[in-house]
Amino acid sequence: MNALQTETALVLFSGGQDSTVCLVWALERFARVETVGFDYCQRHRVELDMRPRIRAELGTLKTEWRARLGEDHLVSLDALAAISESALTREVAIEIGDSGLPTTFVPGRNLIFLSFAGAIAYRRGAGHIVAGMCETDYSGYPDCRDQTIKAMGRALELGMDRRFELHTPLMWIDKAATFALAHTLGGDVLIRLVVEETHSCYLGDRSHRHAWGYGCGACPACKLRSEGWNKWKATRMG
Ligand code: ZN
Repeated sequence: MNALQTETALVLFSGGQDSTVCLVWALERFARVETVGFDYCQRHRVELDMRPRIRAELGTLKTEWRARLGEDHLVSLDALAAISESALTREVAIEIGDSGLPTTFVPGRNLIFLSFAGAIAYRRGAGHIVAGMCETDYSGYPDCRDQTIKAMGRALELGMDRRFELHTPLMWIDKAATFALAHTLGGDVLIRLVVEETHSCYLGDRSHRHAWGYGCGACPACKLRSEGWNKWKATRMG
């Protein structure tokens, strides 16, 4: 493990698998870790209900994590839903749209998230922002690309005249490796928490329980998660 850094980190924490692993990654590295989540009237709004549960459970897994976990910030972004024509915010079919991108793409979403995260980090004196964007087995969203995030980090530094380090620990790993990282960070108990409590399904389905967790089993988020789980399991047994 890396040496503990004395600074504060702010983690973009949605209640999903990726951001939960990022939160634990940060808890292992920083003396104080705060979280921020966004309510943009997402169809899978149930993920927001999982956030406090995941935070509370993480605190029971390791004394150091409980000691380091600081405030949570929940930001309402109704305006993002109002201006977006996306399958994540409206009753639109999840498919590939005319742009060649999935209809689940919410233009500007991560840029807006990072802007708000920067503003909160500024106020809270956090020099580090941790986010779960990934361009390895993602859905093709241009705002998940490493270049976008790097440019955004630079824009935040310039725009606020403050030094921010933007960390994306999952950028170059796939979903199987994300499960592996969770296991390295917290063992079987963290894997159980990820499976039981984190939410990824775009449709907000928590009525179907699979080996990899809850979800419809058919949307792109469920497919990525189940394929990652199966690959990780196969590797472990191999
Ligand atoms: Zn699903």
